Amino acid sequence: MRAIILSIGDELTLGQTVDTNSAWISRQLAAVGCNAVRHLTVGDAQSDIESAIRDAVPLCDFLICSGGIGPTEDDLTRQALAAVMGMELELDAAWMARLEEFFRKLNRPMSPLNSIQAMVPRGATLIENTVGTAAGITATIQASADRATSLHGVPLECRIFCMPGVPKEMKVMFTRDVLPHVQAAGGGAVILSRTLHTFGMGESNVADLLKAHGDLMQRDRNPSVGTTVSEGVVSLRLNARFPSADQAARELNATEASCRAALGDLIYGQDHQTLPAVVAGLLFEDPLARKWAPAVATAESCTGGLLAKYLTDIPGSSRYFRQGYITYQNEAKTNLIGVPAELLAEHGAVSEPVAEAMAKGAQCQSGAAFALAITGIAGPGGGTLTKPVGTVCIALASPQRVQVRTFVFSGDREMIRDRSAKMALTLLRFQLLGKPVPF
Ligand code: ATP
Ligand code: MG
Repeated sequence: MRAIILSIGDELTLGQTVDTNSAWISRQLAAVGCNAVRHLTVGDAQSDIESAIRDAVPLCDFLICSGGIGPTEDDLTRQALAAVMGMELELDAAWMARLEEFFRKLNRPMSPLNSIQAMVPRGATLIENTVGTAAGITATIQASADRATSLHGVPLECRIFCMPGVPKEMKVMFTRDVLPHVQAAGGGAVILSRTLHTFGMGESNVADLLKAHGDLMQRDRNPSVGTTVSEGVVSLRLNARFPSADQAARELNATEASCRAALGDLIYGQDHQTLPAVVAGLLFEDPLARKWAPAVATAESCTGGLLAKYLTDIPGSSRYFRQGYITYQNEAKTNLIGVPAELLAEHGAVSEPVAEAMAKGAQCQSGAAFALAITGIAGPGGGTLTKPVGTVCIALASPQRVQVRTFVFSGDREMIRDRSAKMALTLLRFQLLGKPVPF
């Protein structure tokens, strides 16, 4: 089953509204085994809507449209559909009566403009709108024979659904009156998905590990494994497409196990789990952290408190977060957490000895079991040949030892600060796991 999703509206093509309808519809389709092969977006011009419909029809079993079925002059989806079908618009008397009743109940006169909402192309059927005045329209369109045969495996006819653009109305209509048709035609295929998150290694290094382990990212593998990057987090997207939900779940679990075997503890979480939430979960459970609660302190320079923010994003963080020092200037590093002035003079503020002294100082001052320290050059200025912008030293003092590492992060100021805070969380995560950092 192939579907194309068509979103209609000037506000979408002008970039004023983000097209959330297509993403939502795609996810619903995937759950019943229907593949959305294209997302199309056009403005409110009838000729553009018409050509989008004409182009899409021979390529899919279902064309799912939203937008442009309101009562105003810029709502032209029904006219475009009528033109593609080569049919006149005709009045649906029952829906007209519903509209008149709707306005009578509101005690408002019905604008003559609203009567267009009861018009459907001959041969098409109206779809009831239970939450608004814009009824949907559905029709079956034959793909012309020459085009259908020129493309291998494409359907000969396409069922088109036109729904309102308003996301709330669209979702109700889709669930009630569109999805059941797709499901009935779908032959029962099910797509189950899972996302696994990693932090610390680049996307291509992650891909190399997956390739080395049974070529997990091979294009035609089922379940498929793909990678995406967002805010430094490299995520694996697993999609399993099988005839039954049971089989899809089994295969998805097996592929997840293979990914975990390839990447080990580099995977910190899945689906909606965030890195701070995972670290918080470890701190809630860790015997040492519980005995020493609250067990964590921070000393931050270039991140200005971002690490403390991440640590306190989690409800219940007072059980593990003791305090944070924002020691932006050298003087503050010395006065608040006892970093020796000579050390700063000798090595510079962005150096491993200073990061180490910050972590030890914060640990000692606060009495926390674990102290994380970050000092670096977030840019855009301040870089040198030996310490370019993005150079960040991160230290973790734990009861047994202090570890310190230097990283060079790429990107702008915001990205460098974000990656620094996430890397500090990652060092703490591996400490709590009792495992060496794998990169
Ligand atoms: P009607 O819903 O009355 O048939 P319409 O579908 O064209 O008409 P609009 O008035 O153009 O509706 O849009 C209604 C609201 O829905 C607007 O706020 C618009 O930004 C939003 N909207 C429309 N399409 C989408 C979409 N694809 N994704 C997210 N929001 C959308
Ligand atoms: Mg519109």
